[in-house]
Amino acid sequence: MNQDCLICHMPLAPHLLGVVDSLTKQSFEIRRCPTCGLAKTLPHPADLGAYYQAYYGGRHSFTARHCMNRRMSLVRKVCGSGHGRRLLDIGCGDGTQMIAARDDGWQAMGTEVNPGPPRRLGLDVISDLAELPSELRFDCITFWHSLEHLRDPLDAVRIARAHLSPNGVLLIAVPDNGGMQAKLFGRHWLHLDVPRHLYHFDYDSMAALLKVAGFSPLRWWNQEFEYDLMGFAQSSLTAVMPTANVFLNAISGRSTVTRKTEKLLNLAGGILLSVLGVPVVLLSTAAKRGGTLVVASRPAL
Ligand SMILES: [Zn+2]
Repeated sequence: MNQDCLICHMPLAPHLLGVVDSLTKQSFEIRRCPTCGLAKTLPHPADLGAYYQAYYGGRHSFTARHCMNRRMSLVRKVCGSGHGRRLLDIGCGDGTQMIAARDDGWQAMGTEVNPGPPRRLGLDVISDLAELPSELRFDCITFWHSLEHLRDPLDAVRIARAHLSPNGVLLIAVPDNGGMQAKLFGRHWLHLDVPRHLYHFDYDSMAALLKVAGFSPLRWWNQEFEYDLMGFAQSSLTAVMPTANVFLNAISGRSTVTRKTEKLLNLAGGILLSVLGVPVVLLSTAAKRGGTLVVASRPAL
């Protein structure tokens, strides 16, 4: 297992130990580059399929529409509406965001390791970036919380660069490992999500990756509200409760094996923390230390 930084090739230093996967209860380590700040989950399981079995579907369902609309408003801010132009959504999941893009006039294409569900909705989805026809160019390419799941995020962003039209825009959203939540909750932070998140970015490492891949950042944002709020509420609970992610699972329509009293305690605590978390999220965003980092970039000249 290579323990050097993917971006600047420096040896990684210890960052967090005993980071537990809430689904399999396996423990992982996170190491971090002392130069650019890119952090990496170790080890990288050879077969990640087992770690995704209970992962798909229902995630953040109660705010899914709000999330989708906000992302399309970001796309409109930096690219305008589609007007028949091409958009590529890398790691498109169930295809919800592609449908929203199509409704806004984009000719949308997606990539997804498990392409069955979006294909069944009639969407144009390939299973691997490498399958993209070399001549195909896009006016907008998006990674909505997918870059941190990839085995080689630098290679993926370089491929995106090769397939972006000269005036195109790249949009990337990732959890912010340099934000207040990441610092406050340490190994209990919800958005570490090991080992599904193989890499963990902060402002400096994202800026370094974009530069190395041939991009110039255009604009940064420091929040995706429901990710940030859930990150605060659930991480607070995980730090003190015996079972992780009971609140998140309950409101996402998934069950967790726990005693009824623990479940009720998590639900009550989660609702209270979601209310208390609103000012915390707004303050951390204002300080540019939110739970999420979103960046729009153009190809560097
Ligand atoms: Zn580095």
